[in-house]
Amino acid sequence: MHDLLLRGGTVYDGLGGPGAVADVAVTGDQVVALGADLGPARRVIDVTGLAVAPGFIDAHSHSDPVPLMPDPQPFKLYQGVTTEIVGNCGFSFAPLDDATIEATGPLFAEMAGGVPVVPRDFAGYLADIAAAGPTNHIAALVGHNTLRAYANGMDERLRPGALAQMCRLADEAFAAGAVGLSSGLIYPPGSYGDTDELVALARVAHRWNRPYTTHLRNEDDRLAEAMDEAITIATRARVRLQISHCKVAGRANHGGGKALLARLHAARQSGVDVRGDQYPYRAGGTFLNALLPGAALIGGTAAMRARLADPAGRARLRAMAEDLTRPNGFWARVTPADVLVTTHGTRPEATGRTLAELAGSGDPFDTLCAVLVDDPGAGMVITLMAEEDVETIMADPLIGIGSDNGPPVGLQHPRTWGCFPRVLGEYVRERGLLTLSEAVRKMTSAIADQFGLAGRGYVGAGAVADLVVFDPATIGHDGTYAVPDVRPTGVEYVLLAGQAVVERGRFTGERRGRVLRG
Ligand SMILES: [Zn+2]
Repeated sequence: MHDLLLRGGTVYDGLGGPGAVADVAVTGDQVVALGADLGPARRVIDVTGLAVAPGFIDAHSHSDPVPLMPDPQPFKLYQGVTTEIVGNCGFSFAPLDDATIEATGPLFAEMAGGVPVVPRDFAGYLADIAAAGPTNHIAALVGHNTLRAYANGMDERLRPGALAQMCRLADEAFAAGAVGLSSGLIYPPGSYGDTDELVALARVAHRWNRPYTTHLRNEDDRLAEAMDEAITIATRARVRLQISHCKVAGRANHGGGKALLARLHAARQSGVDVRGDQYPYRAGGTFLNALLPGAALIGGTAAMRARLADPAGRARLRAMAEDLTRPNGFWARVTPADVLVTTHGTRPEATGRTLAELAGSGDPFDTLCAVLVDDPGAGMVITLMAEEDVETIMADPLIGIGSDNGPPVGLQHPRTWGCFPRVLGEYVRERGLLTLSEAVRKMTSAIADQFGLAGRGYVGAGAVADLVVFDPATIGHDGTYAVPDVRPTGVEYVLLAGQAVVERGRFTGERRGRVLRG
């Protein structure tokens, strides 16, 4: 007797196989059989006309503190996501000590969505997540920015012994179960690190057979160079490489999607196991201070405040920010109307407005500086990409899906609530850019393989029964930049290790997620 039978659905195996009508039998936490006439079950759910797929795996999440929020947060389950890879862009929420929290100031606070940022080693972080009971499964990367801030504060130059300490901390994190190493090379203090520093850390990841994921040092004018750096790091350290949120930013570079993919494929030809992920939007979202040159943050957020408040310091930063010959933040690559302030710690009236609106007839750079003096960790949504490049990149088989979400509170980029349904509704059903089976593969096995999540990312006998049942005719997301926190449509059932946590589109309220350790 099986525990559960999903009867009559069209099964997408996650490996790219075409949809096929089959029953799926689940016993305990596993799929035990697929096919017809599988015998009796304690519970039968008729899913005729619906798609049955492996639960989606979000390659690029920033939900690190979300499981510690007081209430369960089903915003990913509603998208069909059963596992999130957190700790991306170099920012893991461990290891942290008091000095690191002090030095990084509002950066972590802004990502935390109201959860207190407290000192923890990596094992402690995973233990706290497990104890809280996440709403979906969590697998965590250890981040270069965090390691560097811990060992070296917000200083530009590494102190003697700091790199060795970073490597030791990374080793501890892998021993505790970190599933890979991440970097975010536009963000201080990670951006102060050079290639050799990253190779040293990636070599630690190699010893544990864990991948290296990177938010490249540049995603606009120097994208090719930045990709070459990532490929060099992966080659020298012999690690799998995941290029995070693949994009071509900056108007002057639009149309460069093909060149990005050519580099990815060339690297594979030369023996690097490289893939990428992407979110299906033209706009990105990050710290507002990413508009400024990295030099703005040397010494930490207090030092940045002092620089921005001082007319001479502000003038120096403006000159650097306007110098298009160097990679100096996004300022000169967008217009103030492209920048929507989404989070601000002390000026709620600034959120939901563009920099152009906030500046009015004043100077937009001065406005930016004033807004950042009030909250150096403020967030933004910034329109940087061309739709043509979004589609070109998405169509490539090496590219998986990752949302790059923020905490599900306040005004955030709509990807937080709708990334996966948007791919399936907009790019599969409406535009026909991808087949459904290929889109499912990009959300499942393509990610599970890269991050070493054994037994997940496919539907087959012996697989963990993380499953999603959705309606291909209605799945989608209507969220906008102005009103992003809208429930997606079309996701009917979600199972975590055989237990239904979404039933007929409703969250059961249970925290059945687990911590997946590398
Ligand atoms: Zn990033």
